[in-house]
Amino acid sequence: MKLIYCPKCLDMKKLRMLALRRCACGQSWGYYLDDDLTAEIGGCAVPVAIENDELREAVAARPERGRGAPIEARVLPERCDTLRVRAEPNPRVPEERGAARD
Ligand SMILES: [Zn+2]
Repeated sequence: MKLIYCPKCLDMKKLRMLALRRCACGQSWGYYLDDDLTAEIGGCAVPVAIENDELREAVAARPERGRGAPIEARVLPERCDTLRVRAEPNPRVPEERGAARD
């Protein structure tokens, strides 16, 4: 899965398909296109990826105590086949419904 990290407000948001999501301060935004793989981001957004299988395995192996099951998150490179940076969000992609932005 891809997330966006906002270096301005330190918020992170998981991207959703064709639903524009913004960080808490609104300066970072992004969404998945309809292939549910390619993401478009903009503003201050820094793209972060977590492998879905790795997360699923860590959840399944969730320990009862201790520091928890580690997973790897990667800050994606500036050039990435499944990532596009835009100046403005596609106006045909609606804002995520609901006022809660968490
Ligand atoms: Zn922000």
